[in-house]
Amino acid sequence: METAEIDLDALRREAASCTRCELYEPATQTVFGEGPPTAWLMLVGEQPGDKEDIAGKPFVGPAGRVLDTALERAGIARAEVYLTNAVKHFRFERRGNRRLHKTPGVTHIRACRPWLDCELAAVRPDAVATLGAIAAKALLGPKFRLTSQRGQVLDWEGRRLVATVHPSAILRVPVEARDEALAALVADLQVVAALRP
Ligand code: SF4
Repeated sequence: METAEIDLDALRREAASCTRCELYEPATQTVFGEGPPTAWLMLVGEQPGDKEDIAGKPFVGPAGRVLDTALERAGIARAEVYLTNAVKHFRFERRGNRRLHKTPGVTHIRACRPWLDCELAAVRPDAVATLGAIAAKALLGPKFRLTSQRGQVLDWEGRRLVATVHPSAILRVPVEARDEALAALVADLQVVAALRP
């Protein structure tokens, strides 16, 4: 199949019934990527969270709001970006009525990789930015170190790639350090913005 012929809507429908790993069972639904089919930039996060699992859309919860703020400050409109995750079902553990995020395993990332590859082949973005260590390692391998390599423009499979933190990380730092953490995320996204063709 020619890459130009890959239909994102068809992929989305197919992914909705994916059972390649066990994460589909307790989750509400597949959270496929979203955004313009010819976006110049693809943002890749780790996995959907609680709110995303319910809404069926990526980055609509608290971390999504942080991302919106950071993108806006970096001069990137959310509407110009294709947003997705390395793993498309929410992995969690139940604590009473709450569903707590559980980091996806290597087997989940591997099982889900074909969907991400299909999204990349369909959208063909000029640049990719990964959000968080899990997403970065999913694309760049286990040796990648986000702390020392974030914000750098890397060559990855013929594209330019910048790795930065996941916006949920901003929410986990102490309140007094939050502005600084957000500013660092914005600075990384400004590096990404400079890659706009
Ligand atoms: S996480 Fe990915 S591979 Fe696993 S069932 Fe969901 S869509 Fe399929």
